Amino acid sequence: CGIVGFTGDMQAAPILLDGLSKLEYRGYDSAGIAVRDGEKETEVIKAKGRLKVLAEKTNGGESVPGTCGIGHTRWATHGEPSETNAHPHVSDDGNVVAVHNGIIENYQELKDKLIRKGYSFYSATDTEVAVKLVDYYYKKYLGTPVDAINHALIRIRGSYALAMMFKDYPGEIYVARKDSPMILGVDGENSYIASDVPAILKYTRNVYYIGNLEMARVRKGEITFYNLDGDEIQKELKTIEWDA
Ligand code: GLU
Repeated sequence: CGIVGFTGDMQAAPILLDGLSKLEYRGYDSAGIAVRDGEKETEVIKAKGRLKVLAEKTNGGESVPGTCGIGHTRWATHGEPSETNAHPHVSDDGNVVAVHNGIIENYQELKDKLIRKGYSFYSATDTEVAVKLVDYYYKKYLGTPVDAINHALIRIRGSYALAMMFKDYPGEIYVARKDSPMILGVDGENSYIASDVPAILKYTRNVYYIGNLEMARVRKGEITFYNLDGDEIQKELKTIEWDA
């Protein structure tokens, strides 16, 4: 339902929690964040219920240090509201960590295929299927994250705004969207991702709008966009003139 991401020079967790609180008005049943400190292992913390519970669990974000992370408030469509079904979702060896807004319509068919390939599933979400599909193509073709996401997107039917982190690419967040909103913001060395403007308005007014079936690689202070061919595309930086 709500997505926030950050990579830059500041601590990510407090920014994620703050951004998610600006999206609370949309409604949600659980929330979670994934934060990575340099090249260390990504920490995932989730909680059912109010964001306040997640904030308490992480001491306002202080107990999860790191300057790169993604966060999510979930409005369940596939799988009951629970801590297990809350996002972020991870691939088996933690290779890919992701949050997702929207619905993967052909998730059962994709899940069956992944099970045949040896994948197992811990949640009832359609999102976990998307994460593991990206992981599958990443390992199968040994390409870049953008290549892997590209392969997955071609097979996914439905709507999505996805934000992902890859074990091999610390400090980077990868984004893709179709029929579900997503914006990317920059301010100097700090890069932001959000499903809606209010989440990041406090930090920057300079944003890019990512189009349907486009992908982006988000590094600290640098955002690169790609089309479905995996070619780099140019985007115009827009200024948000209004107040939330
Ligand atoms: N379909 C996903 C789920 O049920 C995402 C829901 C959302 O947009 O929050 O977990």
